[in-house]
Amino acid sequence: MPAKIMVRYGEIALKGKNRGQFEHKLQRNMKKVLQDCQATVKRERGRFMVSGVEEYRDIILERLSKVFGVVSVSLVEETSLDLEQIKKLAAEIVNKLPPEQNKFRVETRRVNKQFPYPSPEMNQILGSHLQEQFPHLIVNLKQPTFTLSLELGYKKAYLYLDQTAGLGGLPVGITGRGLLLLSGGIDSPVAGWLAMKRGLMVEALHFHSFPFTSRRSQEKAVDLCRNLAGYGGKISLHSINIANIQKELRSQCPDELSVILLRRMMIRLAGLLGERYGLQAMITGESLGQVASQTLESIDVVSKATEMLILRPLIGMDKKEIIDKASTIGTYQISILPYEDCCTVFMPKSPVTKPSLEVIENHEAKLDLDGLLEKAINSLETTHIQPTHS
Ligand code: ATP
Ligand code: MG
Repeated sequence: MPAKIMVRYGEIALKGKNRGQFEHKLQRNMKKVLQDCQATVKRERGRFMVSGVEEYRDIILERLSKVFGVVSVSLVEETSLDLEQIKKLAAEIVNKLPPEQNKFRVETRRVNKQFPYPSPEMNQILGSHLQEQFPHLIVNLKQPTFTLSLELGYKKAYLYLDQTAGLGGLPVGITGRGLLLLSGGIDSPVAGWLAMKRGLMVEALHFHSFPFTSRRSQEKAVDLCRNLAGYGGKISLHSINIANIQKELRSQCPDELSVILLRRMMIRLAGLLGERYGLQAMITGESLGQVASQTLESIDVVSKATEMLILRPLIGMDKKEIIDKASTIGTYQISILPYEDCCTVFMPKSPVTKPSLEVIENHEAKLDLDGLLEKAINSLETTHIQPTHS
């Protein structure tokens, strides 16, 4: 019998209808990432069991550990709910371990209360059986070199040695759909990842200023999406050219206000796109106090350019924490590639840190906002990015 993969999940607070939706969404998301692996995903009480062909096993484990909502995965061996069969399988598993692994403990979880032996008794029965079979083994509850876990389910018993932690969080798509403002920088991909972790399905929006920025900087956004898609499935990437807006702001408005004015234009465009595609919130990579455009005053003035909810998952994170996260999720190496961003192209020497909404609005009143927005929206291009899977 080939081994299966046990998938554990769960926000502790899940109850009733929410639980059903969570499980349904999680199952769909797992099936999606495994669609080319010839695997089946079955739900059993409080668990999923994934079976597939041996040759894909490592890929399946790797992909499942990136699905939000999964708490941990284990490669398990299955047998019937029969004491002798369980003992036999336990001995087979332990027999494959190197002899240096000689301190052990047994951990039983009796999900099925009909099983005649309670968990502590099962630990003892299996422990003594293994010691009889393998005299070099010593029971060590505090610092074992391996733990043999037994789960007694309703139909089957499962034995396993390891447990790989998943990412936790909520299955992507369960809390809604959002629009990630994705630059080529370090922060916004992390913000997108965190939003996805809390169950948001994201589409991405990237602003570029071709021909002032190279095509390569747009490809960076594609690469970042490809990475993020590894966690949540296909991502739609929208690109909008804002070169015209930047030129207009530069010629019509004071230099030190250009960053705030540009941010407000970006937020407006994101709002229009969000409305068009029925997205419920936008997500940015802002972190309080990180740069001039991220003081409380600047964030406030920028926010007022839209009615749409803006989520800022990084607001309380230090740059170092963001970089560490970016490295673990795999976006950092893409973000640090040296291609210029549209914002660096026309960067003023000393941007304001405490903009006044009134002053900003007076400058905007002199511009043909609707015309500029419409022209920018007309440059919209959308591509659908598939994940880079191992
Ligand atoms: P990042 O590392 O995400 O670029 P940052 O620290 O450089 O962030 P800013 O340049 O002030 O900060 O941008 C703040 C946020 O505005 C970004 O995190 C991103 O969400 C959005 N943003 C900035 N530039 C762009 C862009 N070219 N396209 C889409 N969104 C952008
Ligand atoms: Mg940036």
